Amino acid sequence: MNIRIGNGYDIHQLVEGRSLVLGGVKIPHSLGLLGHSDADVLTHAIMDALLGALGMGDIGHYFPPNDPKWQGADSIMLLKQVVELVHSQGWQIGNIDSTIVAERPKLKPHLKSMRLVLAETLAIEIDQINIKATTNEKLGPVGREEGICAYAVVLLLNTSS
Ligand code: MG
Repeated sequence: MNIRIGNGYDIHQLVEGRSLVLGGVKIPHSLGLLGHSDADVLTHAIMDALLGALGMGDIGHYFPPNDPKWQGADSIMLLKQVVELVHSQGWQIGNIDSTIVAERPKLKPHLKSMRLVLAETLAIEIDQINIKATTNEKLGPVGREEGICAYAVVLLLNTSS
């Protein structure tokens, strides 16, 4: 059995007047993430981890931020395209582990919803996707609530070879 590992990282700035979308779930908060798309850092980190495992670059290559086509894009739709790429290359997702680093708001009540949305989009079981939420203990830009970042690790399996 062939296996592949990939890791992904993303960070976006927190600003007023934007929605906060994490893992495809809209979370009530006074600030939202700034970006060309919906700026869903968790979904972006997962996409980069998948592309990394495939050895196929990163999301900036597939969905260039200067392309008006991706203006305000729903990152879950972009993730769907990346998953199709994974399957078309003959790979299956083994599991995904991820961490969101945010000082506020409290994310724990929303983690299950995020896992449900992501598992459905990725065509995997909920226990194949884990999401952890932590703060940065008030340290650095994330600790000062200037942004939110996310990390993801993915394992791909190729059972055909
Ligand atoms: Mg991003």
